[in-house]
Amino acid sequence: MNDRSGRKIEYLRISVTDRCNLRCIYCMPKEGIDWVPHEDVLSFEELVHLIRLLAPLGIRRLRLTGGEPLVRAGLPGLIARLHDVEGIEEINLTTNGILFGPMARDLKDAGLHGVNFSLDTLKPEVYARITRTDRFAAARAGIEQALALGFARVKINCVPVQGVNDGEVADIAALSKDAPLEVRFIEMMPIGQGKNYTPVTMEQVYQKLVSVWGEATPYDGKLGNGPAAYCAFPGFQGRIGFISAVTHQFCSQCNRIRLTAEGYLKLCLHYSAGIDLRAPLRSGMDDKTLSALMAQTILDKPTRHQFSGNGSAQDLEQHNMNAIGG
Ligand code: SAM
Ligand code: SF4
Repeated sequence: MNDRSGRKIEYLRISVTDRCNLRCIYCMPKEGIDWVPHEDVLSFEELVHLIRLLAPLGIRRLRLTGGEPLVRAGLPGLIARLHDVEGIEEINLTTNGILFGPMARDLKDAGLHGVNFSLDTLKPEVYARITRTDRFAAARAGIEQALALGFARVKINCVPVQGVNDGEVADIAALSKDAPLEVRFIEMMPIGQGKNYTPVTMEQVYQKLVSVWGEATPYDGKLGNGPAAYCAFPGFQGRIGFISAVTHQFCSQCNRIRLTAEGYLKLCLHYSAGIDLRAPLRSGMDDKTLSALMAQTILDKPTRHQFSGNGSAQDLEQHNMNAIGG
């Protein structure tokens, strides 16, 4: 369906949990986190129910995220059930990769199309600083396993943070020189913990890559459902993507909505606007009314974010990214 601004909404990011086995500095605090109580998290049954109602409204592609989606037990089973929903064409996953290796075969057999791995550094000591854990080797092994199993699409997401990993962007980009994967650089957003660190602009990353890898050719083809702008460096197997949500607003092409672990249908990353679906679902609202409620909500998706505004509006998102799903 189209929203009031005429944007075709066909992509849903589903956060299956707000819990995580890492504590990335720009995403979550080290401690003192108010987790969503287990009983408030949507069951797989409830999730599938909502997707069956959203597919006829035009949702075609799903991305499972979190928190860390793989810490939720039974994820392959959920993927298989979502895969069977009429109208759903593609299911992808965003993960930190730590639990991915041993589950990779089951995830692929369940119908998982592609995987985005979050990896901000190639140095174990920097990984420990960013994630506050020592799981670097497991994260790398997850990526290797995805490549070995031939997933349709493998991407690496890297968030450069000034003074932390910004000196490594050329080396991280080189992962797509040596393997058929896309590396995407993501501008850190001033959401939650992200406000405490200094982002690196995509222009700065691009200039650094050009200085090391030579002039790039813009790539206009489509490589997924998102807002990344891609280019090709000489001799690289995969493309390099840039997601500059802050410096280049791409809201006019935004095709996505989000569903949080507790069943809140969220319309824009930057605003709390949306609607709770768990209460009506659990109170037995009939499907026709629930579907109409969702359609009415999607219609009112905010026109644009205001990351560069003064952020005084009360309705701005106050959660950390692990509760939103990225
Ligand atoms: N745990 C999974 C992972 O890390 O891939 C999925 C959830 S995580 C919230 C999704 C994405 O959000 C990750 O790629 C992470 O780097 C990104 N992210 C978290 N906080 C961010 C921030 N403040 N600005 C930009 N991206 C952020
Ligand atoms: Fe966990 Fe992903 Fe947030 Fe890192 S970015 S703390 S892995 S949810």
